[in-house]
Amino acid sequence: MPLQFYIETLGCQMNVLDSELACSALLRMGMVPNDAPNDADVVLFNTCSVRQHAEEKVYSALGRLKNWKEENPQRILGVLGCMAQKDQKQVFRRAPHVDFVLGPGRLDVLIETIERLLNATPRPAKTICTSLHRATNSLADVLESFRLYNPERTVASGQTEEPALVRITFGCDQCCSYCVVPFVRGPEQSRSPQDIADEVQHLADQGISTFTLIGQAVNSYRYQEGEHQFRLADLLYRLSDIGGVEQMDFVTNYPLYMTDDLLQAVRDLPKVLKHFHVPAQSGSDSILKRMNRHYTAGQYREMADRIYGMIPGATMTSDFIVGFCSETDEDFEQTVDLVKHCRFRNSFIFKYSERAGTKAAELYADDVPEEVKKYRNNRLLEVQIEISRQLSAKKEADSCPLTR
Ligand code: SAM
Repeated sequence: MPLQFYIETLGCQMNVLDSELACSALLRMGMVPNDAPNDADVVLFNTCSVRQHAEEKVYSALGRLKNWKEENPQRILGVLGCMAQKDQKQVFRRAPHVDFVLGPGRLDVLIETIERLLNATPRPAKTICTSLHRATNSLADVLESFRLYNPERTVASGQTEEPALVRITFGCDQCCSYCVVPFVRGPEQSRSPQDIADEVQHLADQGISTFTLIGQAVNSYRYQEGEHQFRLADLLYRLSDIGGVEQMDFVTNYPLYMTDDLLQAVRDLPKVLKHFHVPAQSGSDSILKRMNRHYTAGQYREMADRIYGMIPGATMTSDFIVGFCSETDEDFEQTVDLVKHCRFRNSFIFKYSERAGTKAAELYADDVPEEVKKYRNNRLLEVQIEISRQLSAKKEADSCPLTR
């Protein structure tokens, strides 16, 4: 009887794609999926470490599998993803029944790690396979340790859904003071346009027609080919020419890289969605400075005005962190003003969660009380919900032949 696996995914689209690639590899190995962890032989958690809450969820879920592991110690429990890279040995301290931790830069060895565990008697000691920390190693060694893993996907495996996620950059160099991503996913690396085009072509040949290009700061994509530096706009033109591609979008954008050439490409290419997810994080200049975001609220507004001015019908969404270190009521009101000005179709709002190892944790006190964070979260959400309601009512009216 084939071995059965269960994989649970937390976090962003990077993790969704990583899980999809892990599933494909496990299927190729002859294993079959099972959607109940207690019935599986191999259980994997693909984790997120952006907020404390996401980590606690994983530790609780791991705790619930203690009996499952005790019942049959041959079963395999693995922790993948950002928390694996961040916590490493600490995972074993909090959940001693875990067999291995594998960082997001080492997915290439997932199958051999599982095979080694399956075939060895007695079971080898706990396995840690992670990448190097960028603060204490040379850039070349760190880059080498975060391996790009983009194996060919077979749509028939049932793991690739539309829109297909296609990674164009790995890692992040933005170094926002609150964020662990540059540490757990390493330095930014852009894939070659040829590699990306081959992957899109391969998926399109199998009937996939819609694509989401993903990267932590996707619009900072750059790849040097001889004299020419290939940017996201160039990539959109190239991918638009691939037969079978009908629709494309790209997430997540960094405000400072929203250049006119990119906006022109989005405006002119019929296959590219006229939508932009560009996290603003805050509407207060002093908070943005502490967040190390390198732009002001005024520059963000100007960028939003440019998007709406250049691309008729364009829509935007954003992320916000409320209750960041030292955020006052006045700072928060400036965030509310920014949301009202930019008229986002939706905003994803998070309460600040201090993350060990980040600049913010080192330099600033997490001094906004939890009730204030909660209040600001709900208040901003209410403002956003009203704007979203007005935008959908307008869209409906515009598309109705009687009111047009
Ligand atoms: N560039 C990434 C992306 O692809 O979406 C952002 C990574 S993160 C998964 C998504 C959002 O989480 C960020 O835009 C930010 O609003 C929020 N976030 C990041 N670090 C946080 C923290 N320490 N506390 C609360 N929210 C945080």
